[in-house]
Amino acid sequence: MKGLYIHIPFCVSKCFYCDFNSYAGKLYLAEPYVGAVLKEAQRFSGCEINTVYIGGGTPTALPCPEITRLISGIKKIFKISADAEFTVEMNPGTADGDYLKALKALGVNRISMGAQSFDDTLLKKIGRIHRSDDIFTAVRLCKEAGFENYSLDLMFSLPGQTLAVWADTIKKAVSLKPSHISAYGLKIEPGTPFYERGVKPLPDSLDREMYHLATDFFKSHGLNQYEISNFAILGKESRHNLKYWHCEEYIGLGAGAHGFISDNGKKIRYSNIKAVESYINKIGETGNAVSEKNILTENDIKTEKIIMGLRLTEGVPQELIPEEKAAFYIKNGFMKKNLNRVSFTEKGFDVSNTILSDLI
Ligand code: SF4
Repeated sequence: MKGLYIHIPFCVSKCFYCDFNSYAGKLYLAEPYVGAVLKEAQRFSGCEINTVYIGGGTPTALPCPEITRLISGIKKIFKISADAEFTVEMNPGTADGDYLKALKALGVNRISMGAQSFDDTLLKKIGRIHRSDDIFTAVRLCKEAGFENYSLDLMFSLPGQTLAVWADTIKKAVSLKPSHISAYGLKIEPGTPFYERGVKPLPDSLDREMYHLATDFFKSHGLNQYEISNFAILGKESRHNLKYWHCEEYIGLGAGAHGFISDNGKKIRYSNIKAVESYINKIGETGNAVSEKNILTENDIKTEKIIMGLRLTEGVPQELIPEEKAAFYIKNGFMKKNLNRVSFTEKGFDVSNTILSDLI
């Protein structure tokens, strides 16, 4: 069965580090946008789905009637299995009890919340619309709406962030008893306000110290690391994201969405037009807004399996890695072997990009 990703490109305002395909001030397009997504979905009508992920952007910026129309619509178009994982991303600054109850009633069973930090000064500095108290409120509202499975996204290596401030954030995050945490180091991407302003990343040594502080802390609180940046209590690993890392198929709908599907025995990666208006227009005209399509060769597939699979602590089948290279990295403590699989050690994760470029 496939995964289904739906991109909602609307945000209340744009965070200073964000290079996602998201736009502030375009919510007036919500109604035609949802209509376009439902029309695009018709291309895949009847497809069997066992994970749904509505991400963005800020899906919860959509007015409740629109997200209701979207979810009700896709449930009719696809065959979504009864035990599907169904995630909606939420910004704590948009949390609303009735909205969350509506999502629950529609079959959503997992919330992924962009908490990022519990330090108000930092939240302001990175351009988030919420403050620390909003995260506590949002989690309470999730629980009241009946969500037991909620994930918190956190960011480290933020400008001016100290180890003590990060330690306080991970402590507060864990105190909220999430089933899952994602923790990403800030990358300053071209085109973002941070990049334009010349904001510099924290020193590498501090970045690594923050990362290891978090991995150790989460582990000691029952949140096992299963991916380089992701931690979960047993059985609550993100089934949808695991499809990406296992190179399994998923349909992507919406402006700028990516998909990975088979067609006539060929493995195809595609991406849609990014601009919201152009996406709506193109779907209106043709029902299809694919702007890029790549047919993967055997070698492309192998490379992807290495790159994506080595992000996971379970690693990849040994035969994917050249024997001599695996032996070298194992001998030097960067990789380890478990039965017939090879994975990065903690030391290996720290330099994974360098090793990956050697392996592929
Ligand atoms: S809420 Fe998320 S998608 Fe929207 S601007 Fe901020 S980081 Fe980007």
